[in-house]
Amino acid sequence: MAETSAPPVPSDHIMGVYARAPLAFERGEGSYLYTEQGEAYLDCMAGIAVTALGHSHPKLVAAVKEQAEKLWHTSNIFRIPNQEKLAGMLTAHSFADVCFMTNSGTEAIECAIKTARKYHWAKGQPERIDIIGFDGSFHGRTLAAVNASGNASYLEGFGPPMPGFVTAPFGDLDALKALVGPTTAAIILEPVQGEGGARSWPDADLRAIRQLCDETGTLLIYDEIQCGLGRTGRLYAYEWADAPPDIMAIAKALGGGFPVGACLATAEAARGMTPGSHGSTYGGNPLAMAVAVASVEELVKPELMAHVREVAGYLNQQIAGLKDRYPDVVLDIRGKGLLIGVKLATPNREFMQHARDQHLLLAGGGDNCVRLLPPLTLSLEEAREAIEKMERACQAAQAEAKAPKDTVGA
Ligand SMILES: *Cc1c(COP(=O)(O)O)cnc(C)c1O
Repeated sequence: MAETSAPPVPSDHIMGVYARAPLAFERGEGSYLYTEQGEAYLDCMAGIAVTALGHSHPKLVAAVKEQAEKLWHTSNIFRIPNQEKLAGMLTAHSFADVCFMTNSGTEAIECAIKTARKYHWAKGQPERIDIIGFDGSFHGRTLAAVNASGNASYLEGFGPPMPGFVTAPFGDLDALKALVGPTTAAIILEPVQGEGGARSWPDADLRAIRQLCDETGTLLIYDEIQCGLGRTGRLYAYEWADAPPDIMAIAKALGGGFPVGACLATAEAARGMTPGSHGSTYGGNPLAMAVAVASVEELVKPELMAHVREVAGYLNQQIAGLKDRYPDVVLDIRGKGLLIGVKLATPNREFMQHARDQHLLLAGGGDNCVRLLPPLTLSLEEAREAIEKMERACQAAQAEAKAPKDTVGA
């Protein structure tokens, strides 16, 4: 009798690692998400910088459907024509000569770290294993990735920190120089930090780090999983500084929502990666490759990059206006292109709720930021709507911040 109890709430059976917002969506189109009740939300976080071409982009939908009816998976035991095509496109549009396809960002980081260590090993310097990362960075959740970022809260409880990882202070080139030594394999950084609060490396610093790497035989790894593939208004953020890496991880925008990533490298940096040294069952499978090829065909269009720069310019200018009008709420604006960090004086989680009350979706970020990571296709009209909604969220945050004082006065 009582054994046939009501089915449990689904979240009862989901591992408790996420603090989710009390919202679910049924479908998406362009820059909007719709609940089951048909309520529209303006999506200025794009699934954390993933749906770069907006939701349900017709070209991506067609690519999935067409490939789904033909062939999903064969494994890397065989040639995969679209994997070769994607690798050709990614290398033609970057510093790289070769690519390894993955299913996620953190796997691309894993490949980057292994590639860097194997390079030195292949050159007869197996002692060069140290990966120098920076505070405030985020490289994903595999054990190597959390060790590379050095963020204590991601490491806590997962055993001792792994040997071979060193954390440097963000933006301090002298400290970095002092850390590079005979056991250094690579320096890893995000040209524009994402989760860490949209902190951007100055172009001159990236060039100085490139030079430091050249002088010391250290490999330079960029994590462009979030800032790459068009988000900053260039295909890759490093193009602004004209300081290319030796190895680079990309993902997020690459599949526009289909799980796919890639590790790109020069032929020289990848010299240790020989048959059997690395692999993936799913990575680069026909279904993922069909979507990624369609996605990259769109992302490399110069007119899309011009659009990103225009919309980003507008948003930055308007948010600067919010900073002037709501100095008790908005403290600072950071980032590059459509990776915009807004540092707040009031708690960012509460601000995100105020934004959701206005049917605007924002991402959180380190250092009490909210991030705007809209689809790269966000129109100027939608950008105007986002600013109107943000202004109302600022008003709500300001009212809330003032409320306790008023109570005391009453
Ligand atoms: C999202 C992200 C990752 C991790 O990607 P996953 O697909 O979640 O594994 C790594 N680095 C950066 C900069 C990211 O933004």
